[in-house]
Amino acid sequence: MGETRWIPEMLFDDLGFRMSYRVERVLYEMQTEHQHLILFEHKFFGKILMLDGATQVTTKDEFVYHEMMTHVPILAHGAAAEVLIVGGGDCGIAEEVLKHRSVKRLTQVEIDASVVEFSKEHFPEFTGPVLGNKRFDLVIEDGMNYVAKTNRRFDVIIVDSTDPQGPGKILFTQQFYAACKRCMKRGAVLVTQNGVPLLQPGELTEGIRKLRKLFADASCYVAAIPTYIGGHMTMGWASDNARLRETRLAALAERYRKAGSFPTRYWTPQVHRAAFALPRFIADLVAHRDGR
Ligand code: SAM
Repeated sequence: MGETRWIPEMLFDDLGFRMSYRVERVLYEMQTEHQHLILFEHKFFGKILMLDGATQVTTKDEFVYHEMMTHVPILAHGAAAEVLIVGGGDCGIAEEVLKHRSVKRLTQVEIDASVVEFSKEHFPEFTGPVLGNKRFDLVIEDGMNYVAKTNRRFDVIIVDSTDPQGPGKILFTQQFYAACKRCMKRGAVLVTQNGVPLLQPGELTEGIRKLRKLFADASCYVAAIPTYIGGHMTMGWASDNARLRETRLAALAERYRKAGSFPTRYWTPQVHRAAFALPRFIADLVAHRDGR
């Protein structure tokens, strides 16, 4: 019987803090052109994908992040037809987006073809309903280049990126947000993965400060994702239509009904509304520090 292997989450090493997973079986491990990728089986969380030592997705709790990154912007918008995902390699977000009948075209721009390739084999529950769907386009490219050049315009942009390290770093820059704004239609919404504020306060404060320079309304909403360790996870929110963040409960419920009331395990109209009610320490982090 070989030695038990434990794999650490190394995102918070600088804080002197690690969470570790005991490995049942390594299913796949490689150094891709862009990052170190490992997929392994865990007794409780099921399959776990890590990129460069950071947890990306687990079969046990993926529904929280995937539903909140998707249904919140799309149902707040109310008539999203053109959607862009930047990153999103495992296709977990794409699978949720395609549940919306209003979405006529979904484009995913992922830098690392290996992540999509391997997800075909190991995350068929995500890739199955997506790859081959005629509403879906996959572009293998750096998201920064794509939003800087495309002549397409989008109702919703979802940035499902890795953390601000390696290939993901550029996706947290002013330049990237400005390029996203360039390819957004009037009244469009941009959402971003924005880290865990207790452990990554700067990532949130900096992100909102940059978005505020470009959009009339910029803030965040929260969800609890067990394997994004550290408490609340924040999702950045930006739009020139400040009313979208205040969409009333009845309107959300009606839009969800019209969207076919597809099954959800986390998102509800009430959870959607509540997600924008920020605990004070997070509200302070996104408060107008520049006196605006
Ligand atoms: N939900 C996860 C999280 O919050 O950490 C992210 C999941 S998804 C796997 C992240 C994807 O972003 C990866 O597939 C990675 O290859 C992709 N990515 C990183 N940098 C990118 C860039 N500059 N352009 C496009 N995709 C990028």
